[in-house]
Amino acid sequence: MIQHDAEIASLRQAELNYRVLFDTLDQLLFVMDTQGNLLHTNRQASATLGYTEAELRQLNVRQLHPAERAAEVQQIIAGAMAGQLRSCPVPLQTKDGRLLPMETRLLIGQWHGRPALIGLCRDQSDLQASEEKFARAFQGSPALMALSNIDDGCIIDVNAAFVRTLGYAREELIGRTSLELGLFVNPAHRAQMVEAIHRTGSLRDLEIEARTKHGDIRHGLFSAELIHLQERPVLLTVMNDITARKQAETALQQMNTLLEQRVLERTRELTEANMHLTELDRLKDDFVSRISHELRTPLTSIKAYVELLDSGVIDEPARYFEILRAQTDRLHRVIEDLLDVSRLSRDDVDVHRLPISLEAFVQGLAAGRQAEADRRGLKLAVTLPDELPLANTDPTLLRQVVINLLNNALSYTPAGGAIALSAHQRLLGLTPWLVVEVSDTGNGISPRDLPHIFEPFYRGEAAGDYRTPGAGVGLSIARYLVEKLGGQITVQTQPGQGSVFSVWVSRVPDESP
Ligand code: ADP
Repeated sequence: MIQHDAEIASLRQAELNYRVLFDTLDQLLFVMDTQGNLLHTNRQASATLGYTEAELRQLNVRQLHPAERAAEVQQIIAGAMAGQLRSCPVPLQTKDGRLLPMETRLLIGQWHGRPALIGLCRDQSDLQASEEKFARAFQGSPALMALSNIDDGCIIDVNAAFVRTLGYAREELIGRTSLELGLFVNPAHRAQMVEAIHRTGSLRDLEIEARTKHGDIRHGLFSAELIHLQERPVLLTVMNDITARKQAETALQQMNTLLEQRVLERTRELTEANMHLTELDRLKDDFVSRISHELRTPLTSIKAYVELLDSGVIDEPARYFEILRAQTDRLHRVIEDLLDVSRLSRDDVDVHRLPISLEAFVQGLAAGRQAEADRRGLKLAVTLPDELPLANTDPTLLRQVVINLLNNALSYTPAGGAIALSAHQRLLGLTPWLVVEVSDTGNGISPRDLPHIFEPFYRGEAAGDYRTPGAGVGLSIARYLVEKLGGQITVQTQPGQGSVFSVWVSRVPDESP
């Protein structure tokens, strides 16, 4: 009995000693059973949380944490009792509902002979308030800032910009890690930060993407630094939100690309236009020098022969007159060409249509060029059907067209060849047309020249081969006039065999029955 009393007295003494020891701790101490029911707490615990010791003994440790994390706390208790866990990241909650971030260590022990769990919590909320200046800068900063434990990465505190930009409530962040929350779009960036912190103690301006609670992506320049708050190392992370800048940059880049494309297109268009102008310039220069030559050559020879005739020392005046006539014709043709070009560029051709018989028209033209054909040693034949409807056209303009074609046939067919002039009726789709054709047995037109022969001032290979005088305008004038008459001009040619030029002329419509 005496011994029993002595044991009790010694136990009481021991308990008193523990109490005194516990109460001197600046950490919060919780002794709980395997279910988390509180068996004992120290003075620091009641002082920090605002409960009396007696009140605390009625509570389960889950009730000292935010209600929505109770299940998590339960699991942590079980894990700690099984020896698997030694810490708890969940913040404590005061009696009046404030959240206090804690650094909690968990130990397995015994309390009055029963297994118990001992929690030792270091209040980290003092870190939030410790340095006022820091706190003000932290809260007021437009950059997203967070303080977290260096060991487990648990968030201790975040600033207003962090909460505002990422859309979480503060309570959802404190005590959690960025990995749990999926804040880094690319988790490798976090690993890069940890590595930099271990190596140099800081990380500067890493471009990262952060995910908001709603899944949006924000672009940021991310820095981290190991700082000491109240002699405790904590990780300060700062992210400058550059999403708007990034978007502006992308928009600018797109605009730039678009602009570059436009500039390229415009440059190409201008280069093409410039090339076209240069080509026109070249053609014009070519034309002027050719025309000067075309005028000077017959004039020089006319002058020479007139002087010879004038001197009276001529035995064959008829031959000289013949040469003079030919040179005058040539001069006449050049001047006609020039006048045609000027009319064509002013587009002042009047059209006077009337019904005409193509038989008479074609025969008249052939008769007019017969002498020239003879002179050149060429056959000139006319082919006509028995009957031909009347054409509805301007005979003056049509004559000029066919004469131009005949002149070419005469110029570009070697002596011994044949030229045929014909007129007949042909269908284009369902419409009947009258076609006047000039064909020759010359050398034809090369595929290189063919696409260009109707362009003004274009002279092809044949012009060089036959040394034919001309300004390269006959066909362009012919096409212009035929189009004025509402028809078209087509060509078929076989190099080495000859060419056929067809002029499509409107008919006088059939009398209605
Ligand atoms: P020009 O006869 O004054 O050169 P044209 O406009 O009448 O001008 O003809 C353009 C070019 O077409 C000629 O330089 C020639 O190369 C080619 N050409 C025209 N008609 C014929 C033809 N019947 N046979 C071969 N080439 C021709």
